[in-house]
Amino acid sequence: MAFTPDPDPHGFHRRGVLFVLSSPSGAGKSTIARRLLAAEPNLGMSVSATTRPIRPGEQDGVDYHFISTDRFKQMVADQAFLEWAHVFDHRYGTPKAQVEAMLARGQDVLFDIDWQGAQQLFQLKGGDVVRVFILPPSMRELRRRLDARGTDAQDVIQRRMERAEREASHWDSYDYVLVNDDIEACFEQVQTILHAERLKRSRQPGLIGFIRELGKS
Ligand code: 5GP
Repeated sequence: MAFTPDPDPHGFHRRGVLFVLSSPSGAGKSTIARRLLAAEPNLGMSVSATTRPIRPGEQDGVDYHFISTDRFKQMVADQAFLEWAHVFDHRYGTPKAQVEAMLARGQDVLFDIDWQGAQQLFQLKGGDVVRVFILPPSMRELRRRLDARGTDAQDVIQRRMERAEREASHWDSYDYVLVNDDIEACFEQVQTILHAERLKRSRQPGLIGFIRELGKS
């Protein structure tokens, strides 16, 4: 397990949080992830690898590592992923090395992965994983947001809607479930969860030494 070197003013050796954000596409997860990264200097983003084609406006190495199916299969064979899954006909996976490097540097790590990935990560990393699920206020609003985004063809949007309903049915395997009817309020809730999780007793093995010294001070 990774320990953060010295992330807080008391010098407790806190364990890194693996912070998972999942939602049906269009529920506002990407905006919240972007804002969280901007607001939290000690949080790094896990950039996934995918075999899906790059969309307009996306950058290779920033939004995803866009790789071929052959390369993806090779990475699976090399056990280079912490988790991976099929999502909408394509493969998506979390490269292991970058996550381990961020944890070793003392950073918490943010994951934008689906319920299959959240489940696998939890099996692997247990209590270090915090799973947050974001729901849209309604399926009608979700459809409106996907249409407004204008990045996908109608048949793709239809399939995303069907998948969104299936994805939403996995809400009960998450630690926190939020409804994004106001992006500002939802962002604040996500940030509050991160702050509270960082302070959990179980993440601070150094606490016991501090408490012992406290008695003498
Ligand atoms: P999109 O193609 O719209 O960027 O993402 C589609 C879905 O794939 C989203 O629900 C996203 O959370 C999920 N996803 C992205 N990267 C990963 C990953 O590395 N692993 C898993 N399991 N899901 C991912």
